[in-house]
Amino acid sequence: MSRLRLGLQARFLAGVVLLLALLVLVLVLLWDRQEASRRQVAEATREAMHALLQEQVRADAQAEVQQLAQALANPLYYFDLDAIGTLARATLRESDVEYVLVYDPAGRILHDGSGDIAAYGQPMRDPLAAQVVAADGPSLHAGPQWLDVSAPITIGDQRLGGVRIGYSLAAMNAAEARTMAALRARFDAVAARDLHWLLLACAALAAIALLAVFLLQRLLLRPIRLLGDAARGIEEGHYDGPPLVTRRSDELGDLIRTFARMRESVLRHDREIRRVAYSDALTGLSNRLAFRELLESRMRELNGVGRQLALLFADLDDFKRINDTLGHEAGDDVLLQVAGRIDAIVQAQPAVRATVARFGGDEFVILLEAAPEAGEQDVRVLAARLADALLEHLGQPLLLHGRQLFLGVSVGISVFPDDATSASLLLKNGDIAMYQAKVAGKNCQRFYSRTMDQAVERRVRMEHDLRGAWQRGELSLAFQPIYRTADRVLVGAEALLRWQHPVDGPVAPAVFIEVAEQSGLIEAIGPEVLRAACREALHWPAAPGAPEPPFVAVNVSPRQLRSVGLLGQIREALASSGLAPERLHIELTETAVIADEAHAIELLGQLREVGARVWLDDFGTGYSSLSHLRRVQVDGLKIDRSFIADLLRDPDDLALTGAIIAMAHSMGITVVAEGVEKQGQYDLLRERGCDLVQGYWLGAPMPAEAFARLLEG
Ligand code: C2E
Ligand code: MG
Ligand code: MG
Repeated sequence: MSRLRLGLQARFLAGVVLLLALLVLVLVLLWDRQEASRRQVAEATREAMHALLQEQVRADAQAEVQQLAQALANPLYYFDLDAIGTLARATLRESDVEYVLVYDPAGRILHDGSGDIAAYGQPMRDPLAAQVVAADGPSLHAGPQWLDVSAPITIGDQRLGGVRIGYSLAAMNAAEARTMAALRARFDAVAARDLHWLLLACAALAAIALLAVFLLQRLLLRPIRLLGDAARGIEEGHYDGPPLVTRRSDELGDLIRTFARMRESVLRHDREIRRVAYSDALTGLSNRLAFRELLESRMRELNGVGRQLALLFADLDDFKRINDTLGHEAGDDVLLQVAGRIDAIVQAQPAVRATVARFGGDEFVILLEAAPEAGEQDVRVLAARLADALLEHLGQPLLLHGRQLFLGVSVGISVFPDDATSASLLLKNGDIAMYQAKVAGKNCQRFYSRTMDQAVERRVRMEHDLRGAWQRGELSLAFQPIYRTADRVLVGAEALLRWQHPVDGPVAPAVFIEVAEQSGLIEAIGPEVLRAACREALHWPAAPGAPEPPFVAVNVSPRQLRSVGLLGQIREALASSGLAPERLHIELTETAVIADEAHAIELLGQLREVGARVWLDDFGTGYSSLSHLRRVQVDGLKIDRSFIADLLRDPDDLALTGAIIAMAHSMGITVVAEGVEKQGQYDLLRERGCDLVQGYWLGAPMPAEAFARLLEG
């Protein structure tokens, strides 16, 4: 920038200075020429005047000497010395006449105008004398200060002698000098006046040059610099420079106004781009990008200041279910409502400064700090309060197309600078804490702690190892026999998934099923289990004493239940294996069914059409509401093994089990007891009329071949 500014200005200044110097040079030269010519004129004038005066003096002198020679002719002829003296004296009296000499033809002095004529009869002895006497006619000799003129005195052809007059030129020279002095004075006066004008002209030129520089600076350079600064500002992303206003009506004014309009429109575009780039299109909240920038800048500001920040990572529980079952439009609707609620909750929090962002999907992140006016507040307390508020308010049912919808939220909290000093790590730790909240049963909050890292790492590794485990043959099915209580005839089997990890050995289903469920891998594994179970069961013969071949019970996880493809998968498994539909029992957990009752009811209806049976697994651990059984029509329920375990010791459990059996029977529902480990339990269950039993006392889960052998008896 400064190059343009300095360049233009410097170049112009240099040009002006050069021009001025040139002008001054020309003026000085002119002045010099004028001086020289003035001197020449003075000299020429002096010479001319000198010549003129000389001429004049000579002519006058010659005329006078001629006249005197004529006047002296007669007196000389008669040698009348008195008359000669009178004439000579009269001439000598003239001011510039120095001497008068009348002489005879031999050059002897006859008269010199004096009274006594002391030189009478003496020859003239001066250096000119000989020439003067020898001259035939008048003669003239001159020196710088004198003039000597002579003329012969004649009568007829007779030469009587001559006369000489000596003039002094001092007076003439003095007059000439005076005249010249006056002339010179005039010239000097003219020169002084000229010099005066010349200096004035120089000053005027300098002033004009200065004015030009000033005008250039004001009219051209300043606006250009202003435009340059503004352009640089735009380049650097500052659109809020000094206002570009001008009243000028020239081209530069147009340029400035056009530029100002351009800046305006660039600013508008920039704002728009920022708005689009930094906000979430669906909810209008800040997006991941904006939030990260804010977080990073806040962390930079607070670094070393001793103030804390909290990051709340809120993830909706089972949001995918809504998208899968109700469609994406409904999902968007829910997200909008949730975003509105979160924003309202955050705004309602006292003494905090908070920013809400949507991180994509169903993840919302809140940056929280104590408001400066609230003084020193523990940000952990504030964060916990906000998380509680979120859990409470988001737990209220949402209304979607006139229908109530329950949504939970899991909140993870990480705190700066305790948990992390970089934005990425703080976000990651918030995410880990949120994940732990999910693992802990969802719809709760968790603060990040370092021990979480290991747990998460293990999970991440397990998830990684589980991917493709079925294809690698690490997963297999075990079958646990199910007996009719009344006569202990084998009537069915539950298919249970087993994972033989190549390094860690067998992994407990309770552990890896949870990971598969959380990561969504179950949606890939589930159909394989269904297909394999059906394929296996197809060839099972009826057990001794049984009227028909045993059924196979397959566990279906909540996530599978929510996925839209489940019905198709069951149909496909049945069709591809050729298994009679009524021999397939689907085990659904009670909690999964209750979470979305409407969907479950619909699905159960469809399954009934297909012909498969539906059992409610782990009955009693969930909401245990028998009234659900009226609305959700299932074929059977499996009393959770935790009830069976205490059957012998806890009369309450016995009473409850009895009640469940009686109630189920009243609705025509089959009852299965799982986890029978002792004969006593079996006896009690038979006594209470429980239909089917399953447990280690009767048979542990076994490989498919072992189960096939068991059937053969
Ligand atoms: P579940 O459906 O309630 O399965 C019964 C569990 O009880 C099995 O544990 C079984 O081995 C165990 N069990 C049977 N008899 C006894 C007994 O007398 N005493 C005790 N203490 N336990 C007994 P497992 O195989 O570890 O499976 C655990 C859970 O994993 C299952 O609970 C089921 O919810 C899930 N699961 C297993 N396989 C699959 C599968 O293929 N798909 C899905 N979605 N879930 C599965
Ligand atoms: Mg089960
Ligand atoms: Mg169970």
